[in-house]
Amino acid sequence: MHAIKCGSPSSNIYSHTNTSRKTIQHTHTHTFSHTVVEIRVERENLKSVSMAETGVFEEIIEGDVFKYYTDGEWKKSTSGKSVAIINPTTRTTQYKVQACTQEEVNKVIESSKIAQRQWAKTPLWKRAELLHKAAAILKEHKAPIAECLVKEIAKPAKDSVTEVVRSGDLISYCAEEGVRILGEGKFLVSDSFPGNERTKYCLTSKIPLGVVLAIPPFNYPVNLAVSKIGPALIAGNSLVLKPPTQGAVACLHMVQCFHLAGFPTGLISCVTGKGSEIGDFLTMHPGVNCISFTGGDTGIAISKKAGMVPLQMELGGKDACIVLEDADLDLVAANIIKGGFSYSGQRCTAVKVVLVMESVADALVEKVNAKVAKLKVGPPEEDCDITPVVSESSANFIEGLAKDAKTKGATFCQEYRREGNLIWPLLLDNVRPDMRIAWEEPFGPIVPVIRINSVEEGIHHCNASNFGLQGCVFTKDINKAILISDAMETGTVQINSAPARGPDHFPFQGLKDSGIGSQGITNSINMMTKIKSTVINLPTPSYTMG
Ligand code: NAP
Repeated sequence: MHAIKCGSPSSNIYSHTNTSRKTIQHTHTHTFSHTVVEIRVERENLKSVSMAETGVFEEIIEGDVFKYYTDGEWKKSTSGKSVAIINPTTRTTQYKVQACTQEEVNKVIESSKIAQRQWAKTPLWKRAELLHKAAAILKEHKAPIAECLVKEIAKPAKDSVTEVVRSGDLISYCAEEGVRILGEGKFLVSDSFPGNERTKYCLTSKIPLGVVLAIPPFNYPVNLAVSKIGPALIAGNSLVLKPPTQGAVACLHMVQCFHLAGFPTGLISCVTGKGSEIGDFLTMHPGVNCISFTGGDTGIAISKKAGMVPLQMELGGKDACIVLEDADLDLVAANIIKGGFSYSGQRCTAVKVVLVMESVADALVEKVNAKVAKLKVGPPEEDCDITPVVSESSANFIEGLAKDAKTKGATFCQEYRREGNLIWPLLLDNVRPDMRIAWEEPFGPIVPVIRINSVEEGIHHCNASNFGLQGCVFTKDINKAILISDAMETGTVQINSAPARGPDHFPFQGLKDSGIGSQGITNSINMMTKIKSTVINLPTPSYTMG
């Protein structure tokens, strides 16, 4: 597979090139692209030089199956079963991980509980020191971990490296923020409440919750794992990670960096297996004291099943981009490209519907189309802008949304093209509310445009969604922007920029089906602690300087 510009006449890469390929692993045909396309991928080409599984990572694999991590050791599951991780580009098995059993999960949680008691007694500065060490080791090994991301989730090579580096920075920030906010408590006196004298002094501090279960999604497996691990550990909790199947191997490499940093035995564990098989057992486990989950609707199901434990849920989004008549259309077009198409639209905060005033819609669509034509489409190894989506079922789902829009009369600004899991970027104009794409999250490189006749219409569409993650508004009138931001029922509104989760210390939260609670380093540390009060009762009232 070679990169090719989206608008290039020879962009049917499989039909026109690569005739020298020897091994055919998969053949896929479909007709919706107006041409029948055959996909031939040679796995060996893509397996080339591997940095993963070697050096300090040698001990995390045996044979061709990666081990799981518990009690400070890498272990094989007694299940004798493994879960295959399919490379989205080659659509062949890239890696295998252990399918852990319920018995193993029980043991992991038991060890985690024991380790947490000791960790809670470890001075805060020491916890911070270990986290800084893990961050440095992670960044040192960015290349092999990024390589896993390229192969497991087809993330463009440069973005994969960025994810690992950003994750190291996030861990260090947690350590720094933790020593500040956990080093402070409150002091309250009783006489501020009617009827009381100053006979009671209340001292509050933040105490850990116990065992935190972290479940990240496939799209940022390392970053969204450490955004849970860092806050949990600095706050004195232990951590059990259940990585996404696609992205599990990058997570196992990341866990090895924590192992190398020298965290106490049992404090961090990583159990692998399909979420559909071990997920319920984990989330309903009585030994779990907190669940931090990022993903799709699975989170809604978990929140109904989990016990009485604090939940942090960061779920899906249908981020609206409202464009007013006075907007800088070049800026909007650049942000629709960045916000809608980076990592092939597989981002929770991707621009998922553009709501543009009719009077500027033609001009905006033209500008976006010109930029879509320049996007590089192809394999992640070549740092293409548009790479294969994570799975065949995901590609089928995206195709279903496109087909539905086609049937109902949407304008296809580009020809629909798909080869295997690779879907060419597509802007759909004249989308109407009766089309699925107006409401559903494609998680792919397809951006719908709805033309509106008033700002109220745009706000109404945004607020009629089940989701409420982020949104954005483009206008030069800051007063209007504030009014629109206040009216939009989303956790965050970006003014004159595409929605985004970072920087990682900003509060990040979704309303409605987009989540429970708020992330961001400070908020996550607070969420993973509980307030403990000690009240000193005096025999007589005591007033300072009395
Ligand atoms: P997903 O299918 O919901 O999976 C998320 C995680 O849940 C994976 O680790 C998955 O493991 C696990 N899982 C599956 N079934 C489970 C169960 N019954 N119990 C416990 N865990 C279970 O989501 P995804 O496809 O990985 O990610 C895409 C979705 O995440 C999109 O909707 C996107 O908007 C959302 N997302 C939200 C944010 C945010 O911060 N708001 C950020 C990124 C992504 P397996 O992989 O083994 O199935």
